[in-house]
Amino acid sequence: MKIVVLGAGVVGTTTAYFLAEAGHEVVVIDRQAGPGLETSFANGAQISACHAKPWAGPGVPSQAFRWMFAPDAPLLFKPWRWDPSLWKWGMRFLRNCTDTRVRINMDRTLRVALYSRAVLKALRQHTNIQYAQELRGILHIYRSADSFAEGRATAAELASLGLSQDVLTAAECVAAEPALRDAHTLAGGLMSPEDESGDAHRFTEELATLAGNLGVVFRYGETIRSLSAHGRAVTDIITDRDRYTPDGIVVCLGSYAPAMLRPLGLDLPIYPAKGYSITVDIAQENAAPRVSITDETRYMVFSRLGHRMRVAGTAELAGWDASLNPVRVEPLVRNARELFPHASDYSSVNAWAGLRPATPDSVPIIGGTRYDNLFLNTGHGTLGWTMACGSAKVIADLISGRAPEIDMTGLGLDRFSS
Ligand SMILES: Cc1cc2nc3c(=O)[nH]c(=O)nc-3n(C[C@H](O)[C@H](O)[C@H](O)COP(=O)(O)OP(=O)(O)OC[C@H]3O[C@@H](n4cnc5c(N)ncnc54)[C@H](O)[C@@H]3O)c2cc1C
Repeated sequence: MKIVVLGAGVVGTTTAYFLAEAGHEVVVIDRQAGPGLETSFANGAQISACHAKPWAGPGVPSQAFRWMFAPDAPLLFKPWRWDPSLWKWGMRFLRNCTDTRVRINMDRTLRVALYSRAVLKALRQHTNIQYAQELRGILHIYRSADSFAEGRATAAELASLGLSQDVLTAAECVAAEPALRDAHTLAGGLMSPEDESGDAHRFTEELATLAGNLGVVFRYGETIRSLSAHGRAVTDIITDRDRYTPDGIVVCLGSYAPAMLRPLGLDLPIYPAKGYSITVDIAQENAAPRVSITDETRYMVFSRLGHRMRVAGTAELAGWDASLNPVRVEPLVRNARELFPHASDYSSVNAWAGLRPATPDSVPIIGGTRYDNLFLNTGHGTLGWTMACGSAKVIADLISGRAPEIDMTGLGLDRFSS
């Protein structure tokens, strides 16, 4: 079949690769000059099934309220903004803040994340793709006894759903990652040994090359203007340069999917959650972590990318503006300097911001639509790199008429209609 993939982020590029591998003729359209140049560019680099707990949870509304007036808070939500799409998203988010919903959403996310990790591993074996990967697990560190207890409770829930983590004392954390020796306030940690890290942008570039070898055509620098439909089929894709009439379409437009699909009568509850990262050159090799670290108290992640260290975090629900705000960059630098003081001299910090395509339940939207030939692979929020390979494989299977290898219950757009 002739398939057009909309968007060449990590999700669109993996989708194109698996579609081509399944024998389809694939074109990918993206407005940027190359693959992975928007949200997939400088993320936290973690392949983290261990982060399957959704954002929405019982204590979150009161915490978000307390942070509302702190410009450098880890989560910044400004409900007074004139933005009906944010209010609608916020109402749906609130409905997911119950223990029952947390359990359901965690199960759905973990299902995709664990599958995705396995698909990535198989892809690596099959292609020998290189992207500064580190296969040393992810270590969550906790600074207080209370937060450590909460972390252990979440780990027990994740274990019951299929992800096991090891509980470590503070000394065991330092033994697992000696670069943590300057962390004075460690209460303990949780190690997710099968999780990984690696450069999502480099992976996307390398995979685009491999997809090109399978015949995928990438049309960069081309902006998609609209889609038009007739009956139960989307018939045309209109761009600033061309018109396409494929057999099938996969939407991988991240935070920009809702606006593209609204004219077709599809309501995608995706809102951009802006996040920041810094990337610094490493000054002392043994002072920077090799195990990817999640600091559960500061809501930040640290990943090693060759001779560089990536530090990422913060979330701001403030529309589609990806510009850099120095006030939100500063806590990343401050905390990196505190935890890994000798890893870098922090004199030259490469700051970046990206828009996570967040759904109110933190579960991606993967599957078909009311149009027979229109498929969605978007809304991956904080875990798009983690879930890219699995969701791409699922879409390739669905389009090829094969049953996906995971249960698809609760992953599609239809879950929002009830
Ligand atoms: C600070 C931060 C840290 C993160 N850390 C992690 C992490 O550690 N692990 C993890 O798994 N995930 C992480 N994420 C999330 C992850 O980066 C995203 O979920 C993922 O990049 C989304 O990929 P995507 O392909 O769906 O979207 P994108 O990468 O945004 O791709 C969408 C593409 O669509 C194109 N596009 C949009 N509109 C149009 C149009 N009209 N015409 C043509 N092209 C268009 C864009 O150019 C873009 O290339 C993080 C995100 C942020 C911001």
